[in-house]
Amino acid sequence: MLNAWLKKYLNKNRMDRLAGNFTGKIGRTTRLSMDAATVVSTTMPQPESPTQEIPDPDFTDTVYYRSPLRPGGKTPRLIQRFFNQYTTAIFSCAILFGASTSHAEQVVIYSARIEQLIKPMFDAFTKETGIDVKFVTDKEGPLLARLKAEGKNTPADMLITVDAGNLWEAAQEGLLRPVESKTLETNVPAYLRDPQNRWFGLSVRARTIIYNTQKVKPSDLSTYEALAEPQWKGRLCLRTSKKVYNQSLVAMMIAEHGTARTEEIIKGWVANFAIDPLSDETKAMEFVAAGRCDVTIANSYYYGRLMQKKPALPLAIFWPNQEGSGVHVNISGAGITKYAHNVPAATRLLEFLSSEKAQNLFADVNMEYPVNPKVKPDPAVAAWGTFKQNTINVTKAGELQSEAVKLMDRAGYR
Ligand code: FE
Repeated sequence: MLNAWLKKYLNKNRMDRLAGNFTGKIGRTTRLSMDAATVVSTTMPQPESPTQEIPDPDFTDTVYYRSPLRPGGKTPRLIQRFFNQYTTAIFSCAILFGASTSHAEQVVIYSARIEQLIKPMFDAFTKETGIDVKFVTDKEGPLLARLKAEGKNTPADMLITVDAGNLWEAAQEGLLRPVESKTLETNVPAYLRDPQNRWFGLSVRARTIIYNTQKVKPSDLSTYEALAEPQWKGRLCLRTSKKVYNQSLVAMMIAEHGTARTEEIIKGWVANFAIDPLSDETKAMEFVAAGRCDVTIANSYYYGRLMQKKPALPLAIFWPNQEGSGVHVNISGAGITKYAHNVPAATRLLEFLSSEKAQNLFADVNMEYPVNPKVKPDPAVAAWGTFKQNTINVTKAGELQSEAVKLMDRAGYR
């Protein structure tokens, strides 16, 4: 009887911690009662008209919430105090032993990738290993803040997010732990993972040039840097510099050219703007298609998704910097949390996500490229052609991010 009551108390505490903080910043509170269904999710809004934005697939304004109870976790400090005060040491040991025996059954994920992009892989992993995967999704900022605030009491074993800049930040904050795995070293090229093995790329996103096929010839284009030349005056549309994708692009340019040369390039871009920076790169591509400007820079999956919806738009991809350092690539990726409860199972999941079996699922679902060199991209993505990637380690995107932000500010890129 006491045993049952204690279990209920422990579960309630864990659930409160998992469900309790998603308020305010996402404009909606999701809080489940103990008896509520274990899955809460809503469908991503789909664009219906040209004026409606295609939502960014990396983020969500909805909290997805699965199976709040985590029988395999460590006992939080509050519960430890409870045990110390009200139960005998022998009884505590029995409960903790019971919890520890279920550690191998479950991995808890905090994910900045939305449910549609991650659930198919988790289902495949569970099917293969029997290990259950629970996940919570939110924007990366709240997830990082939450990991920090929870400290060693976090229920999360793994963080999945996009952009090396974000993963670098999580590692810098001490939220991730190094993972030694020959499988990950083999499956993930060195330039797409943390040199200290605290995070690993799982899909590659290429940030490339998109142009209006009625106004621009491919031979007019060459590099990101050349978009600063006077021939592009009044012809360039870009997404805001506040987006981490542009911060990472500029950080990688600093890594290659140094600060002074990069600042000249960014000033050149600003001088060539047709309109003020836009909040969204799908919108920027639509402006290019509508003739408001001739060229933009976007992640190729946005192009793929827009063209699936509106195949008649006069847009095409150009792969820049092929004579030089290659196309700027970034990643979506993951790391195991510093205070993970179930490191072996989380490592197994990370290895699975990098495997040939899971890589297509992980990349194709968002029209990205696999990180695993043995895996080919989806045919629809492969149709855009092959290209040389910039192989400077993506960790530079994090290391030089604040310098990039300051540089863009000085250059007047808002
Ligand atoms: Fe995105």
